[in-house]
Amino acid sequence: MIVSVLLLALGSFPVWAHDSTASLPVDGPNPAVVGRLADPSPDPDVQRIIEAAKASGNDFLMLRELCDSIGARLAGSEALERSVEWAEKKLIEAGADKVWLESVNVPHWERGVESAQMLTPREQELNILGLGGTPAGVVEGDVIVLDSLDDVDDRVADKVVLFNRPMGESIPTVVEYGAAVSFRVRGPAKAAEFGALAAMVRSVTTRSLASPHTGVTRFPEGGPTIPAVAVSTEAADSMARIVEDGSSVRVRIQTGGEWFEDAQSHNVIGELRGIKKPREIVLIGAHLDSWDVGQGAHDDGAGVVQVIESLRIIRALGLKPKRTIRVVLFTNEENGLAGGKDYAARHPPRRSERHVAAMESDLGGGAPRFWSAGGTPEQLEWFRTAAAPLGMPVVEGGGGADIRPLADQGVLRIGFRPDDAGYFDIHHTAADTLDKIDPQALAESTAAIAALAWRMANQ
Ligand SMILES: [Zn+2]
Repeated sequence: MIVSVLLLALGSFPVWAHDSTASLPVDGPNPAVVGRLADPSPDPDVQRIIEAAKASGNDFLMLRELCDSIGARLAGSEALERSVEWAEKKLIEAGADKVWLESVNVPHWERGVESAQMLTPREQELNILGLGGTPAGVVEGDVIVLDSLDDVDDRVADKVVLFNRPMGESIPTVVEYGAAVSFRVRGPAKAAEFGALAAMVRSVTTRSLASPHTGVTRFPEGGPTIPAVAVSTEAADSMARIVEDGSSVRVRIQTGGEWFEDAQSHNVIGELRGIKKPREIVLIGAHLDSWDVGQGAHDDGAGVVQVIESLRIIRALGLKPKRTIRVVLFTNEENGLAGGKDYAARHPPRRSERHVAAMESDLGGGAPRFWSAGGTPEQLEWFRTAAAPLGMPVVEGGGGADIRPLADQGVLRIGFRPDDAGYFDIHHTAADTLDKIDPQALAESTAAIAALAWRMANQ
């Protein structure tokens, strides 16, 4: 049963939320499940890197610092700039040959005070989180339940729309996320267009302990805006059942979202300079910002410490890469992608530097499973050879949101794909905290990323 569900999921790998490259399996069945880091690896350097990463524990210690001393770090916040300073220091301590910051203008939105209540048929406080970008407002209205964006029409006028499409449960769950998240990103704007009072979106998760999941929503420039909030799956189910039984649900929603002037943030960059081909860059990246709730432990603190620790391990082992290994910690992935866009614009191919490959880790701190690679057939072939001694399967697809802008320059993009089975349960919630991280799984993924960086820098 599980196997057939997996094959179905992989056979119809839809568009990943931020990467328009379709993903198809190319290396046999069920890579998401069978993928494991080789033990032992046929490449002795890779084996040394894997052993050092698994034994270190330094990735988890760094994550503990980031989560507990800085915590949530949304674009525009003072906490994000403290995390910039923190990351700069960590890259210096890791032994990078060069560390620098690149300033980036980022959008600045704050959620303010928000609340919601069901008024009829019974009174109940609703656990909500405003979606990133929601305007402030106070509305009261009857609920209309929809499970397709195509159903948004004149019927929603003067109503509060509840988008109630459950997220599917097949693995890798990132596929299901891609399918479900469009309601959150585009639903509220479409409801506003047809005169809705507000939009409630069922949280994009399969399992829930009554927690709402935030995330970005987009209103087109100059178009109508309405309060847009995430509700827990439990509350969404309850309201949908009441409406299905023929009763009406009336709710009151108060949001406090406010836009401020753009703020200045930074991409944080550190590198180990290649000894033979220093101008050829192998980028390993993650994003430094997070939503304004929780601690951004899985999203994407895990990725941040994995790539910093990868650099540290290669340096500590005294290994000298032929190409330059560059760690890039992008700012503002969550609500603007300003960091990823700025990086690509500042680093076009030129005599002094050319990106050979870019990898991003942005699916949490689970154990390693497979790689998703996007590029030309020649690049994919090159990548398969580089990745072979790690033993993890390669599927065709693409990398993360921050490295997507490099696609226009023809750069090979690789997404690191860990076990994401529990990731979306806490994704973008107040529960994305350090205690949800398994240090062993985190270390194994650090090992995979460090080993891959080394292989790509030397192939
Ligand atoms: Zn992320």
